[in-house]
Amino acid sequence: MKIEEGVPLALFTTFGSGGPARGFARTRSEEDVMQALAWAAERELPLLPLGFGSNLLVADEGVGVLALRLEGELASARVDGESLIAGGGAADALIAHAARAAGLSGLEFAASIPGTVGGGVCMNAGAWGSDFGAVLTRALVVDAVGQRWLGPAELGLRYRGSDLEPGQIVVRAEFKLHPSTQAEIEQGIRAKKEQRKAGQPIGINTFGSVFKNPEHELGAGRMIDACELKGEQIRGARISPEHANFIENTGGATTADAIALMDLARRRVLERFGVVLEPEVRLVGTISLASLE
Ligand SMILES: Cc1cc2nc3c(=O)[nH]c(=O)nc-3n(C[C@H](O)[C@H](O)[C@H](O)COP(=O)(O)OP(=O)(O)OC[C@H]3O[C@@H](n4cnc5c(N)ncnc54)[C@H](O)[C@@H]3O)c2cc1C
Repeated sequence: MKIEEGVPLALFTTFGSGGPARGFARTRSEEDVMQALAWAAERELPLLPLGFGSNLLVADEGVGVLALRLEGELASARVDGESLIAGGGAADALIAHAARAAGLSGLEFAASIPGTVGGGVCMNAGAWGSDFGAVLTRALVVDAVGQRWLGPAELGLRYRGSDLEPGQIVVRAEFKLHPSTQAEIEQGIRAKKEQRKAGQPIGINTFGSVFKNPEHELGAGRMIDACELKGEQIRGARISPEHANFIENTGGATTADAIALMDLARRRVLERFGVVLEPEVRLVGTISLASLE
């Protein structure tokens, strides 16, 4: 396993922004992950497990971390009876389609989430009334202490979050599914894709939902829309004209541009609704939302 230095993380985030990581490793086995952990520990560097970077904003000036990707066998999936076992780097679409091919239902919601299993567990990603927590039996987590299987309660899965810390890497996950017909599962996947196409920006770089939905009758997107911020642009970043809880990279956007828009949206929503929006996107490096202070 090779550790590269100074790899720009903009290449590994769906928004396409972010500076270089001090170290970058592609790991293909639990042993590789352990080696990477040791490399980082020797240099006292924190870890940044990376999925597809579909929920990440990385500081433009770069980050002093060892960024780690899971590939090869750690990005594959197999079915065993009514269970699906996947590597932490497996794409959500891969596991949804592997389950469909085996006539197993439960992962249809994941087919159009552009992340990986590890990112999905960490974020408890979900859509259309389901989430990872609803189908996950356990996850194999590697950290400086070793490796162990943790169940959903031990992982602390909650709405778009978990208790996982950056030094804890999900290398495998096991899901309990239920038998159904391939046609029904296929229909479920297709219906969810169509709904998404109708209401979210497609074909442009984003990082998914910007803010978590607050405890309020309106979701974050509706609140930002009510503040008439759809289409608002700061340099290369724009609040999506289609869905106000998305920020689009219209070309050359930096993390700072996205953060400036997030600050603007938070301030306006606070003024109008008295609600403090919490970011759903993970902020990596020295990034601060001025409106948080
Ligand atoms: C167009 C679009 C649509 C989206 N729609 C949805 C949606 O419907 N529902 C939803 O919930 N999200 C959605 N998202 C957000 C995002 O796809 C999810 O949060 C996804 O689960 C992130 O996965 P990832 O692998 O890309 O993680 P990353 O963005 O790479 O990382 C997210 C977090 O997970 C951690 N992480 C990544 N891999 C691991 C690992 N192996 N072990 C431990 N921690 C890890 C990272 O360190 C980071 O803290 C969307 C994003 C986009 C761009």
